[in-house]
Parts: sequence; structure tokens; C-alpha cells
Amino acid sequence: MRAARFDGTSLTVQDVPVPVPGPSEVLVKVEACGICLSDVHLLDGTLPLLLPAVTPGHEAAGTIERVGAEVPVWAPGDRVVMAGGRVCGRCRTCVRGRFEECEAFEIMGFAFDGAWAQYVAVPYTGLASVPDGIPIEQAAVLADAVSTPYAALTDRAGLKPGESVGLWGIGGLGVHAVQVARLVGAAPILAFDPLESARERALALGADVALDPTDGDVVERVRELTGGRMLDVAVDLVGSNRVLAQAASCLGRFGRCVMVGLSLDPVELGPGLFFGLQSQSLLGHLGYSKRHLDELVDLVRLGRLDVSGSVSALMPLEEVATGVEQLTSKTGNPVRLVVQPWA
Ligand SMILES: [Zn+2]
Ligand SMILES: [Zn+2]
Repeated sequence: MRAARFDGTSLTVQDVPVPVPGPSEVLVKVEACGICLSDVHLLDGTLPLLLPAVTPGHEAAGTIERVGAEVPVWAPGDRVVMAGGRVCGRCRTCVRGRFEECEAFEIMGFAFDGAWAQYVAVPYTGLASVPDGIPIEQAAVLADAVSTPYAALTDRAGLKPGESVGLWGIGGLGVHAVQVARLVGAAPILAFDPLESARERALALGADVALDPTDGDVVERVRELTGGRMLDVAVDLVGSNRVLAQAASCLGRFGRCVMVGLSLDPVELGPGLFFGLQSQSLLGHLGYSKRHLDELVDLVRLGRLDVSGSVSALMPLEEVATGVEQLTSKTGNPVRLVVQPWA
């Protein structure tokens, strides 16, 4: 099969053996796989290469080709979207059956071969069924670009109806954070991005106000827009301490600041006294649980969530490196670029 391989130096599409699924794994014919900023970070060295070489790609959907001997439910031909990782099965919490709390969660495309390939082998417990009405490339983007902000807002931050929320960075994850905030019933929803096209997109998807975070006194603007109560939830979807500090400075009493964007910046948020006086929280966040993916497929199927605008372009696997460049340079300000390994 064809697969894009990264060896720490270069990303090349090559012929490799089709993976053999284990007894409780499923071999999926990959029909769509997104390009994520964390893939970019793997390729540029910000994130470590965990194997001598790896097939990236952790946002994928396709059709089941073959199931392992101990897989009780799935069958060849089933359309599925797959969770972008697997539990280790060996750590303290896994052996107690609390898989959602796995202490050594393995991310697809980092700890094991991912889906910038024609086939991928994944545990059957990581699959969610995709109804015929959902295009496969839309199903793919659920498995990170939508599920990560969904888990961050609904679960990690515990965002509730009527709460005020600020979202910094309206890119591939941020646009979906706006939609999720709207779905939850948060109000007002304030979106922050220096790019005008990103602010327009935020407004079109349900933000009440979209602001340029480099323009004027942002804290004062948030105070006006929230009637003085400031933000209940502030989310850094960019991954930089400058953004995080601005987001945290807009929090109100009991406000929660969530770090969704990743960076190596040291965290500095000003005098700790104010954080304590206001009983505020700073929350790290990674990814999502399998149940979030199941919930999102249902929300799309039931017409509560529309991700039809989330696939900015489709490209064959052979052009994945070009896609990575486009995402890095934000050419055309894409939401998600999606690779089609069989195109
Ligand atoms: Zn990702
Ligand atoms: Zn584990």
C-alpha cells in the first residue's frame, strides 16, 4: 500500500506492507484523513518522534476491510470514523478497567502508525459508525478538529448554558469551538483572531462578537461585552503564552482558562494573588475520549451540528507534503485540509 512516512528528516510517500490487524483490531481502508497542526509540529521537530519512522495522521475515516478474530461487532464494508489513539491496556488504570483514565494513552500517528496511508489497523473499541448520510471526509474531521474543542469546552471546562466564553484562535479547532459553544448555549461567545477572514468565519458560525486581540484594550472590551462579569471560560486554541495570558486576564470570578493549543512556552500569568482571589483555574487539555466521538457523530446525524464547511480542500496522498506547507503558511486560511489515500 501507499503510505506517507516520516523518519525525522523527510516525509515521503512510499510502498509499505499493509498492516496486519491484531485479534481485537480492525483493518480500515482509509478514505479521508485530516492534516492537523500537531502533524506539522511532529514534522518541524516541536513534538518528538517516538519511533525510528512513523506514518502520521490521526483524524481519519473509511471503510472496514477486515476484522481480527476476536472482534465481536464490526464487519467488512462498515463505514467508520476512528478515535485518534488507543489505550495502553497495561497501566494501573487500564488493568482496573478504567480505560478513559489510561495513564499512557498512545496517539495514532505518533506512538503507532497512523492514517496518511491506504490502510490502518486500529482497536475495534476506537471505532464509531458513520451513517450513509454523512460524507466520509466530514466524519474524519470529527476525530480531532471537532472532538478536541468539544471535549475541552463541554468536559474539561464544564461550559454551561448562559456562561460567557472567549475563544482565542479561530483556526481549524477554533471554528468548531465556536459551534460547540453555540450548541451548549453559552452566551455571549467572544471570538478573538488577528485575521479578518477568521473573525468573519467566527461570526458566521455563531460568535456574538469577533475581536482583533491586538487592537486596543481587550480586557476593557470584554468587561463591556459581558456587562462587567467577565468570562466564565477562556480558551487558548493557539498555544502561546502571550495568548494564554490575555485569555486568563479576561476571566471573572471562578473563571476557567483552558489550554488547547500546545507550545513549549513557560506559563506566566501575572500575579498569582489575583488568580487566587478570584478562585480561577488553569486547565491543560489534550484530545478527547471515545464517547465524545460517538456523541459528535450523533449530533451531526441528528442535524444539531453542521461540519459541511469544515473541509477546505481534498488532496491525494501524494500531495500531503504540499498540504502540510499550506497549513503551516495558512495559505487560503484553511479549516481542514483532508488527504484521500485512494484518490
Ligand atoms: Zn490533531
Ligand atoms: Zn493505560
